[in-house]
Amino acid sequence: MSSTLPGKFYTSRHSHGTFAIRQFGPVEMTERDDRCGGTLRASAVPEDECDLSQECETLTHSHAPVVVVWRNVVLMSVLHTAAVYGLVLVPSASAYTLLWTVCCFVFSALGVTAGAHRLWSHRSYKASLPLRIFLAIANSMAFQNDIYEWSRDHRVHHKFSETDADPHNASRGFFFAHIGWLLVKKHPKVIENGQKLELSDLKNDRVVMFQRRFYKTSVVVMCFLIPAMLPWFLWAESLWVGFFVSALLRYTLVLNATWLVNSAAHMWGNRPYDVTINPRENRFVAFSAIGEGFHNYHHTFPYDYGTSEFGCKLNLTTGFIDLMCVLGLAKDRRRVPSELVMARAKRTGDGSHRSG
Ligand SMILES: [Zn+2]
Ligand SMILES: [Zn+2]
Repeated sequence: MSSTLPGKFYTSRHSHGTFAIRQFGPVEMTERDDRCGGTLRASAVPEDECDLSQECETLTHSHAPVVVVWRNVVLMSVLHTAAVYGLVLVPSASAYTLLWTVCCFVFSALGVTAGAHRLWSHRSYKASLPLRIFLAIANSMAFQNDIYEWSRDHRVHHKFSETDADPHNASRGFFFAHIGWLLVKKHPKVIENGQKLELSDLKNDRVVMFQRRFYKTSVVVMCFLIPAMLPWFLWAESLWVGFFVSALLRYTLVLNATWLVNSAAHMWGNRPYDVTINPRENRFVAFSAIGEGFHNYHHTFPYDYGTSEFGCKLNLTTGFIDLMCVLGLAKDRRRVPSELVMARAKRTGDGSHRSG
């Protein structure tokens, strides 16, 4: 597969380093983008990787033996127990601490949605160096593997959705797609196909590689120490409450919100854009994951920076990227023209498409 992967896409379209160009109008896609998206069905970079469609279809569902990673089972059990305890502590937290916890939730979620997902996995817009640094710090607060690994897994997910090469293959059920995939060893097909991916854009991004190099330290500081200690330092909240509510409960909520995109949004909801794929439009997931629940649209048009045709509606991440463009920190937002969306919905949708 690697030999068929063109390397030009990422290297030619991403500029590293600062820039001050302001572009307020989203970049529109062409007919060709839609065609390729339709052929490949779920590609992260459809117009350059249409030649992979054959391989998508040849992958089958031959499950390898499941090898449980007990360390992860214990860690996830402890984390979720601690989060429930954090929930019990919520009434004893001050209003400032609760507000701080919400801020940490949104900040860390943006590190995943606007950062690892829409910027680094899909290259659906361009970000200046200061914004990339901001998003990398936010991403460390989310502690969902470093940007490089997250983006690699996500590209594999799009290319090989609902097959053995999909890291969180939803055809193996809700539990596997949600959290189970992190509790067992990766299917050999995931590793095999992940290694074949063209990732030079990520390797050439100094912010991505710096975060990867210092990932553990950055997680300890951003995901645990700062969320727990800032309330104690600034308004004398107890460290205990800060740690269990702002750090552990908040971390667990962001994790589950992200996982819902892989589980619920691959199972429940309408398919207005492409009825032949599993991903669905799920408003609850859109709300929880600050805009990532419009998943039928996203898998149909993965290069659209908004992951939805409805702008900022239930989509805080799109609002954030728009704001960054106004501030001159982002540019070149890629967008699918509405005529193309309508035509696609008419051609392959389930008939539930609405215009708002
Ligand atoms: Zn995606
Ligand atoms: Zn998906």
